[in-house]
Amino acid sequence: QCAAVCPTGAIVVKNDAQKVWEALDDMNTKVTVQIAPAVRVGLGKKLELDAEGNAIGLIVAALRRMGFDEIYDTSAGADLTVLEEGNEFIKRLDKNSNLPLFTSCCPAWVQYCEKNYPELLPNVSTCRSPMEMLASIVKDQSNSSSRRHVHVAIMPCTAKKYEAARDEFKVNGVPNVDYVITTQELIQMIREAGIIFTELEPEAVDMPFGTITGAGVIFGVTGGVTEAVLRRLSTDKSKASLMSIAYQGVRGMKGVKETTVMYGDKEVKIAVVSGLKNVSDLIERMKSGEHYDFIEVMACPGGCISGAGQPFAQKDIRENRGNGLYAADKLCNIKCSEENPIMMSLYNGILKGRVHDLLHVNYLPGKEHE
Ligand code: SF4
Repeated sequence: QCAAVCPTGAIVVKNDAQKVWEALDDMNTKVTVQIAPAVRVGLGKKLELDAEGNAIGLIVAALRRMGFDEIYDTSAGADLTVLEEGNEFIKRLDKNSNLPLFTSCCPAWVQYCEKNYPELLPNVSTCRSPMEMLASIVKDQSNSSSRRHVHVAIMPCTAKKYEAARDEFKVNGVPNVDYVITTQELIQMIREAGIIFTELEPEAVDMPFGTITGAGVIFGVTGGVTEAVLRRLSTDKSKASLMSIAYQGVRGMKGVKETTVMYGDKEVKIAVVSGLKNVSDLIERMKSGEHYDFIEVMACPGGCISGAGQPFAQKDIRENRGNGLYAADKLCNIKCSEENPIMMSLYNGILKGRVHDLLHVNYLPGKEHE
């Protein structure tokens, strides 16, 4: 086992690849896996790929050959996050309470907030991250089965290992995500399995989490969460309207982006921040009286495409990864999370009466979150 260090200084983590191999070797264990948006554009030259294009089909094919029973796309979890965070934001806007709403899908940011700005925790969204939303549903579905179920998440991120181990995301002491494997660890596992990646034929992810949207895919790049939520809030879903959201200042690798959009007759002030230093600067400006309604925070500069679990990349490669996700968005025929047909069946099925339990989390110790 080797150790990896998160550049945010948040954690030192171990590599669980060996435990995943053991689960895959055990015929009595069902092993499911989810793949985060940024992973598909992070493999690049390490696996002899020409560029930072969308390799999701090849990753799925490799995981099948490694023996995973079911393979899902975390982008479906991102669609759930968009719906829940969109609803939460509208409620807070209507009541004008606990604004700005900070996003909560980056565990390094949540931990940074807990340590340095606990007074801001009521402003952090109660939404679980896409990884944890999808995992809680996948694990819950197999609760009645007698077969052991191990759920693996392939993430661009070392902080996700810490998130998976948090008590908030355990049921009867068992984590919903048993093991987090980083993109780099996945590359190592593909090599260990002797798979020649470029000779694979792309394959599709499994149902019921096989239908994804462009909104879910762009979660992997800074501004993606905001753009996805704005698509959700927009009453005009025309192509021209969705394109105009893209040009409202949410895209690009700048560490702090600010924009104002109209929601009904309200002006909504938005900030998109990546890099923890930029977050503390923004919070200091808030303390001096600057007002925001919605703040997306990603600890890694440029968002998850630059995560500590991805192969190291210079700025131009990171930009290419972001463009790879926008190209993947273009190829999705469903652009908005609420139009994903899986969402309807989830809300009418497993989530009925259980949205709070399965999709939300309380980061306020000993207190009820509003
Ligand atoms: Fe992980 Fe970085 Fe993405 Fe945060 S921004 S979830 S630390 S990869």
